[in-house]
Amino acid sequence: MLDVLRKVIQSVNDADNLEDALNLIVHQVRSAMKTDVCTIYLRDKASNRLIFRATEGLNAAKVGQFGLGFDEGLVGRVASRGELLNLDAAMSHPSFQLVPGLGEEPFNAFLGAPIIHQREVLGVLVVQQGDSRCFSDAEESFLITVSAQLAGVIAHAEVTGAVSRATAAGGRDAAVMRISGVAASPGIALGTAVLISPTADLQAIPSRQVKDRRGQMRQFRAALARVRDDIEVVAENLREELSPEDHALFGVYLGILDDSTLGGEVGALIKSGEWAQGALSQVMLQHIRHFERMEHSYLRERAVDVRDLGTRVLSYLQDDERQQRAFPVNSILVAEELTASVLGEIPREHLMGVVSLRGSANCHAAILARAMGIPAVMGAADLPFSRMADQDLAIDGYNGAIYINPHETVRRRFQQLAAEDTALSESLLALRDAPCETPDGRRIPLWVNTGVVADMQRGLDHGAEGVGLYRTEIGFLMRDRFPSEEEQRVLYREQLAAFAPAPVTMRTLDIGGDKSLPYFPIQEDNPALGWRGIRVTLDHPEIMLAQVRAMLKANEGLGNLRILLPMITTITEFEEARNLILRCHQELLAEDYSEALPPIGVMIEVPAALYIAAGLAELADFMSVGSNDLTQYLLAVDRNNARVADLYQPFHPAVIAALCSIVEAAHSRGKAVSICGELAGDARAAPMLLAMGFDQLSMNATSVPRIKKILRTVSLAAAQTHLSEVRAARSSEEVLISVNALLDRYDLDRYVRQGAHRPQ
Ligand code: PEP
Ligand code: MG
Repeated sequence: MLDVLRKVIQSVNDADNLEDALNLIVHQVRSAMKTDVCTIYLRDKASNRLIFRATEGLNAAKVGQFGLGFDEGLVGRVASRGELLNLDAAMSHPSFQLVPGLGEEPFNAFLGAPIIHQREVLGVLVVQQGDSRCFSDAEESFLITVSAQLAGVIAHAEVTGAVSRATAAGGRDAAVMRISGVAASPGIALGTAVLISPTADLQAIPSRQVKDRRGQMRQFRAALARVRDDIEVVAENLREELSPEDHALFGVYLGILDDSTLGGEVGALIKSGEWAQGALSQVMLQHIRHFERMEHSYLRERAVDVRDLGTRVLSYLQDDERQQRAFPVNSILVAEELTASVLGEIPREHLMGVVSLRGSANCHAAILARAMGIPAVMGAADLPFSRMADQDLAIDGYNGAIYINPHETVRRRFQQLAAEDTALSESLLALRDAPCETPDGRRIPLWVNTGVVADMQRGLDHGAEGVGLYRTEIGFLMRDRFPSEEEQRVLYREQLAAFAPAPVTMRTLDIGGDKSLPYFPIQEDNPALGWRGIRVTLDHPEIMLAQVRAMLKANEGLGNLRILLPMITTITEFEEARNLILRCHQELLAEDYSEALPPIGVMIEVPAALYIAAGLAELADFMSVGSNDLTQYLLAVDRNNARVADLYQPFHPAVIAALCSIVEAAHSRGKAVSICGELAGDARAAPMLLAMGFDQLSMNATSVPRIKKILRTVSLAAAQTHLSEVRAARSSEEVLISVNALLDRYDLDRYVRQGAHRPQ
């Protein structure tokens, strides 16, 4: 069954348009289940009817000619109840409805399964048979499995088909499609889609038609020649080391790229108008698949060689393109998987917005987009990536929506919202030098989270009073090797000097999870629970020692450094890490260094740390709550996974109880505690965090003015009353009701729900 299923899904994925995909499904399911009929009905969103879209076995002339309501016929019953219907005598069922001319009369047995994608019924998949018999359990489960697997594929094919039709019709007004994703960075953007694929990944290259076929051919030939040269050099270097038989393999490699073989196939595709990278990727992937399917293991393994060759050629083509690429003034970056380095590919002044097919609101790339003030939508899994190049896009980072080829009305609405955003942000800049103090006199410093170089200036411009979290790993992510101690010292010095005498909290390297260094890859099945943060650096003291030494040296003559340790789960981890810091400090003191040991803090982001918080508070000089990870681990919800984005609830009563108990533990030992997760920059949370007693809030620079506005308006007394209401709530929804009531009372809702209405 798995084999049949894999084949069905593979061929549907390869189909060019939705009609072909549906026809393939009915054909393959009918033959796999050996039934007389297989039919698909798909819901038409405008009329909310189930349209007869594809069949084998019924009257195909009726395709597209009629539809059923959700309360009509057996198909309507399957769709409205959202469950399987298995009948031995369909026509005697009270819901049966005869559609004249459809040809259902000879078929007694009926099995229908709903096609459901993201809780929404997309349609119904039906098989029918002449014999009067119930379908078996195995047949039922096969149909359910097929329809569950196909739901995503159909949703994707629907959008892809609509985009292709719109492109063929050649107009912005030809279609408007709204694709949902996860709201990841607030703001509105209009612009042109620019596709960025991860470096040299054959699988991630979109198809694109180009006019300059000769130029593309020239680029391809030049890239081929460079790979040939590389291989010849390697072959020559290894001549003495390898047996003549092994050495002959290089000849085979060179042959693969010949005009008479793959090179010729790629050339032919380029001549047909496909760009060089697309042609290369299509040909290579076809051959790789072919090799991978071979019985013989030696031949199967050759797939690796073909992939390696293809990747080398692609990498030269991408180098060329990178050097020549001009970006539209209003670029909207579209990536399958957004990473920090992909974000850096488009010059900031051209980058209006970001869309990623994978990831969710609290993955690190999204945090970076927020810090840079770029509207972003993540987890837009249904976006047809390969068809998106140069499309007109409107993105709504408040609601997590993307509009492809938006109508003029949507465009105007977006322009208006963008103008309101700018006016509001400008009005808040007046607060830059005002203290963050409640009307009844509680002062709470607002600190900033930094990572990329530009964050420093943004933080200062927005009136931040210190750095609560400097994510040092971002400087490591942007390189192709570990930075040396001196390189790190220079980087850290810049941060410390920019904010001195205000405190700068530097976190030791926090890699693993969704932050993998290209030159130190960590491959794990379950990275969030794996080798992360302090676990990595304690296992590699040489990396930690170099980093800490660089921090301490950078602190010379300034004295505003604080060191923060991520992902601490046990007291021992904290002690071991602190011992390494003490060792560095001792060694430096022996070398004519006189700066005092900086405060050493602990991040509370693992539930275990919550329960030993008082013990940690005794040892640490300060604490900082990483609410992003704490929420992920408390709620068992992957922060990167768009599918469970709705369950990632920072206002969950469990998270709120955890935050209160951390503050209590820290204060019971006389230690200050801040919060540096994204919740600290969420305007809805500000009054409640103030009332909990946090000593500082640390957030991305763009959030500072709004949080200041809220806290300068709501008194500590009102925030405390609000917190007791929040603590009595039983769900996130109840917490948010209380939050919204408070914000309404102070007329602050526009700072929070700014743009949160649908621009339709
Ligand atoms: C956190 O987990 O809340 C945090 C601040 O760290 P990061 O987002 O870098 O994991
Ligand atoms: Mg964290």
